[in-house]
Amino acid sequence: MTNSNVLQIRKIIFENFNEIDLRFSNDEIYEFLNKNDDFDKSQTIDDLVNDFKKIEDDGLVRCIAQNFTTQWFKIFDDVEKINCTSCHSDVYLGKEESRICPNSDCNATL
Ligand SMILES: [Zn+2]
Repeated sequence: MTNSNVLQIRKIIFENFNEIDLRFSNDEIYEFLNKNDDFDKSQTIDDLVNDFKKIEDDGLVRCIAQNFTTQWFKIFDDVEKINCTSCHSDVYLGKEESRICPNSDCNATL
């Protein structure tokens, strides 16, 4: 199973919320996801809980507040765009994260 949701969320954060002091929510990211052709729009915000958990566990973001299903996040550090030469795709990593391709089909060292 592909981790397309996580990869799309990383890109959305890079493009829209790439500022350390900025706070953003899962609902805001969900709105951006729904504009992506690659996103399976039958998924609700509740279906993405594990994807948001994953980017927290990976050290891209931290959850700073929660109100029912709305979670607020901040990034730990600037997010960089890196071209992975193994899977030939652009991937998005926080500066402090392990230099491992976040594409679960790849996992190459960057
Ligand atoms: Zn890769």
